[in-house]
Amino acid sequence: MPIRVVVSGAGGRMGRHVLKEIINAADLELVGGVDPAHLGEDLGILAGMSPLGISVQKDLGTTLRANKADVLVDFTTPMVAFDNIVTAIECGVRPVVGTTGMGQAELERIRELCKARDLGCLIAPNFALGAVLMMHLCKIASPYFHQVEIIELHHDRKVDAPSGTAIKTAEMILSNRPGGDDSDEQQDFVEKVKGARGGNFSGVQIHSVRLPGLVAHQEVIFGLEGQTVTIRHDSFSRDSFMPGVLLGIRRVGEIKGVMYGLEGLLFAD
Ligand code: NAD
Repeated sequence: MPIRVVVSGAGGRMGRHVLKEIINAADLELVGGVDPAHLGEDLGILAGMSPLGISVQKDLGTTLRANKADVLVDFTTPMVAFDNIVTAIECGVRPVVGTTGMGQAELERIRELCKARDLGCLIAPNFALGAVLMMHLCKIASPYFHQVEIIELHHDRKVDAPSGTAIKTAEMILSNRPGGDDSDEQQDFVEKVKGARGGNFSGVQIHSVRLPGLVAHQEVIFGLEGQTVTIRHDSFSRDSFMPGVLLGIRRVGEIKGVMYGLEGLLFAD
């Protein structure tokens, strides 16, 4: 039996790529799409393929129930993703979420709902397998360096900063420091242009670059006296995210509660 999938944000940049991948996968069935900006459009056309005879709908709950969906894939905006996830869980549908920018309180609420409904959910700030490996390598490097800075670079239409990947990387680095954050803040420091040193996430400086021409990139620089180590990942096209999204759709049924990050499906800790 194929896994029945609904995509929310179906007309967006990521959504269209996801539609195409699902249509091409023999073990998955695209049964619906939701996107208020693309109402009535055919999902096949949005994917750049032949018409599929399934049009974009407005109401997520109705679409999930009417089509007996197993999985919801969400690539929308931080403002609507939380409501979409709640709707999916209430419908007994497993969410696979790529939307970034949701807060901790929302994540906590999703954990509670998943527990109450005994349903798995995958939320991954980055579905690119190389980016997941980059974050994993940063965690491994973390105990050996007490100072690190993250530079994340994205296309100029990204609505949140810093990126979910940068925050997740900082969390993973901090989680593997025996004494927590021990970065040595310079006391006599003067910031002549506000924000020049980037944002501070629990002691880790994060710098966000937004430019046309970029897709999704990140460089993590660890420093020690007389040496640095730089770990970098580049997504040059949205195709880079697709193997991870497909992996998530296929394996979310195995997840108990909320898995935050794709590494839980890739590496045994
Ligand atoms: P986009 O703006 O191109 O697409 C978002 C789509 O969501 C739009 O078509 C919009 O109309 C639609 N939308 C708005 N409200 C909606 C609602 N209530 N229900 C359904 N659809 C709704 O954005 P994008 O570039 O496709 O990125 C989407 C999200 O994915 C962003 O948060 C981005 O940061 C994130 N992203 C994550 C990864 C990852 O690997 N996790 C990779 C790339 C992008």
